[in-house]
Amino acid sequence: MSRQIKLIFGAIVIFGLLLPGVASSSSSLSADETQLLQVMHSISSHTLFNYVKELASEKYAGRLGGTEGFNRAAHWAAELFKKWGLKPVGDRGTYFQEFPIAYTLVFPGSEVVMHIPYKGATLKKYYHYFDEFIPGSTSASGEVTAEVVYVGYGVTAPELGYDDYQGVDVKGKIVLMEREVPVSPDKDRDLFLKWRPYSFHQYKLENAAAHGAKGMLYNYGPIANPNNSYREGFIYSHVGPVVVEDIFAGTGRSHKDVVAKIKKELKPQSFATGKIFTIKNKTEHHPEGKCYNVLALLEGSDPVLKNEIIIIGAHLDHLGYCYTLIPGANDNASGVAVTLGVAEALAKSPVKLKRSILFILFGSEEQGVVGSDYYCQHPVFPLEKTAAFINMDGVGCGDKLSALAAKNYPEFWAFFREANERYVHRQIRTSYFANLARPRLDAARFMWKGVPTISWSAFGARSYYHNPKDNIDTITPEIMEDLAQILFLGVVKMANAAQIDFRQGNPSN
Ligand SMILES: [Zn+2]
Repeated sequence: MSRQIKLIFGAIVIFGLLLPGVASSSSSLSADETQLLQVMHSISSHTLFNYVKELASEKYAGRLGGTEGFNRAAHWAAELFKKWGLKPVGDRGTYFQEFPIAYTLVFPGSEVVMHIPYKGATLKKYYHYFDEFIPGSTSASGEVTAEVVYVGYGVTAPELGYDDYQGVDVKGKIVLMEREVPVSPDKDRDLFLKWRPYSFHQYKLENAAAHGAKGMLYNYGPIANPNNSYREGFIYSHVGPVVVEDIFAGTGRSHKDVVAKIKKELKPQSFATGKIFTIKNKTEHHPEGKCYNVLALLEGSDPVLKNEIIIIGAHLDHLGYCYTLIPGANDNASGVAVTLGVAEALAKSPVKLKRSILFILFGSEEQGVVGSDYYCQHPVFPLEKTAAFINMDGVGCGDKLSALAAKNYPEFWAFFREANERYVHRQIRTSYFANLARPRLDAARFMWKGVPTISWSAFGARSYYHNPKDNIDTITPEIMEDLAQILFLGVVKMANAAQIDFRQGNPSN
């Protein structure tokens, strides 16, 4: 082969690799496809990273639902939707759908302290924010000093013959409690469903308060989490293994063994630990806050098919200050950034979309998946006509993607698989989502309403969850660009397919 022919041959091979199926069947791409790929390549990791940087900055104060910081973020996103010509479909011709939310501000000055008797005096061990404790995001303001009583999972379930509070007196005391319930949905579905109501943080906190406890050390992370109840006078913090091990030290019990025993026998192992602790938090509760979902529509071009809706969404809110800024770069400024990237590309798509695309940035996901629940109770377009919901939560960190519930909806999944296999080539882990546990994603709300849903996240790099280190330093912008490109191509095809019905064949519908 001459050098020139080799070069031409090489170029054909490379072109063929980049565009399999297209290059092999015809000598050039259709005008539509060429333009589509141009728009796809206009999605830039720089732009998406800048969105994350903006949302994770001090200006938005961690975007807690109910606060001015969240409202500023909602307006910032709405301005972009407006700039791209997307239609406002919220309340009274605005981009905003309002709903009520209670919220609590946590100020600096939190403490978790162990009092150690020593030669007739008392030594104090102060724990470290935020790797040893994080203040309860819905704690009351004030200080409590009392003995710690271990109460297992904090569950009182007469119908299950189980009561963690039996035989222990917690009046005026601090309880140390595990999160969740001792049975898992993966191991025994039917048994878990009986325990499920007791897995909610709100139930556990209220049950402790109902038994007269004045405070709680919640063995949860420690992470920040505003998805809980507020009780006047009830002061709590989230603690991790350092605090838990100190409480168990010298009691003749090992924490690991006690938890394993509860799980194995489903019998409480509660006991008074003899350890004295102080929990101190400075907070301010606002029972009558308001939060918003941001709703923008790209109206379909087909007079009939435009009534079928494809939703692309991500939660915009995060945890606010607790008591330093929790920026929420990966969770979930990244999901918002990709939603915006896809929105801009679809708005500029040279191929007109027959179905309508609704973009939703949810409020108050972190406070109990509230915004998506509100939308599902007050949908702007009928849920029966909502063909699909594409959710993103934590898509900014790593080099691999996860598509939760892709195995529930193989025909829905096929659109993204094809886009990835042809153009993007990321490793994607697909999974089945039984959706039995308490809701922890906006995706759960839509699936319970029968809307076919795939929920994206990224993994494969060190990331931080619900603490101050979830900042822009951990973001890998390229994964966001790739996901946005997969979604853009998949959604264009889906919006223009002759017929789509992903509800068929899924047992959860
Ligand atoms: Zn999230």
